[in-house]
Amino acid sequence: MKRVILLGSSGSIGQSACKVARELPERMKIVGLAVNGSVSVLLEQAREFGVKALAVFDEQAAADAERELPADGHLYKGAAGLVELVRETEADMVLVAIVGTAGLAPALAALESGKDLAVASKEILVMAGESVMKTAADRGRAILPVDSEHNAIFQCLRGAADREVRRLILTASGGPFRRTPREQLATVSVEQALQHPTWNMGKKITIDSATLFNKGLEMIEARWLFNIEMARIDVIVHPQSIVHSMVEFVDHSVLAQLSHSDMCFPIQYAVTYPDRLPNQLGSLDFARLGQLTFEAPDPARFPALTLARHAGTVGGTMPAVFNAANEVAVARFLARRGTFPQIWESVEKVMARHQSVASAGLDAILAADAWARAACARLD
Ligand code: MG
Repeated sequence: MKRVILLGSSGSIGQSACKVARELPERMKIVGLAVNGSVSVLLEQAREFGVKALAVFDEQAAADAERELPADGHLYKGAAGLVELVRETEADMVLVAIVGTAGLAPALAALESGKDLAVASKEILVMAGESVMKTAADRGRAILPVDSEHNAIFQCLRGAADREVRRLILTASGGPFRRTPREQLATVSVEQALQHPTWNMGKKITIDSATLFNKGLEMIEARWLFNIEMARIDVIVHPQSIVHSMVEFVDHSVLAQLSHSDMCFPIQYAVTYPDRLPNQLGSLDFARLGQLTFEAPDPARFPALTLARHAGTVGGTMPAVFNAANEVAVARFLARRGTFPQIWESVEKVMARHQSVASAGLDAILAADAWARAACARLD
């Protein structure tokens, strides 16, 4: 039985995690819940799973939650509240599924207070991969990837030694503009960019899937999670999203992990690892799928991959800058104040102006993050 604190419980990953907890009550018990502002979802989940330790990030929403709190419940508030919830609640694992940088401090708090970390928020490893992995190693805690690609690689690497691995191959759906000519990308609308062909996710990550920034962030995440150089991390477009990623070994054999595209698969594996348990998620019907296809990503239409490779290779504070500038640029696109190509153009400009700080601590990383946000906002 794993006692799990779920941060970001109202989002799509959070809802899938609740589904897993519902299906495997003998293996997963939710003991803490945190949301940004979705108080009604939080209170409903607290009732359903009998959770007493709750946190609300948004201060105004926290005041609303306080009024409806069950008598035996405890409410933690704001950014500091998330960290307190993690530190003070007895649990085996913290699943961080918060969009943006707010997950970083609670993730470190989880490891420092002796809990395993299940990572769904990319920012944690992109921004602070070096210190998060070091903290986990120092404390003897596990980091379990929930992102479908990393979870796939984690499954393929089971029992493998580092020296046996040749390269990691991340699959990408290619997003809605896989076939869109370069000149048409300048005029795509927010609505078109939000049409993801295979996954149903939040807005930020859906735009990131359309630009392939999501895959760029995942390359950097993989670099830290599996302690491998950027040069040995490749990306292949696989529109059906059935092969979730692959590992090529030194003998040129490749292992892949396949399943339906449903986040319940990686969440369940992360929670029950090292066990595999039966579930109701359904088999793949290969005859019905017919074919699985692969194509090389076009670097001219998707510069995010080149930018990510550069950020990950430079290291230090550059990945944090890559991430923060992208967040600002995506918000601008969603607010209809910029074109789709301006997302990567802005990120490229901000990265070009940044002097990376090597082996940066948390303060330097957060300073670089703030600098990049301001620098990107000034590009208006
Ligand atoms: Mg992913």
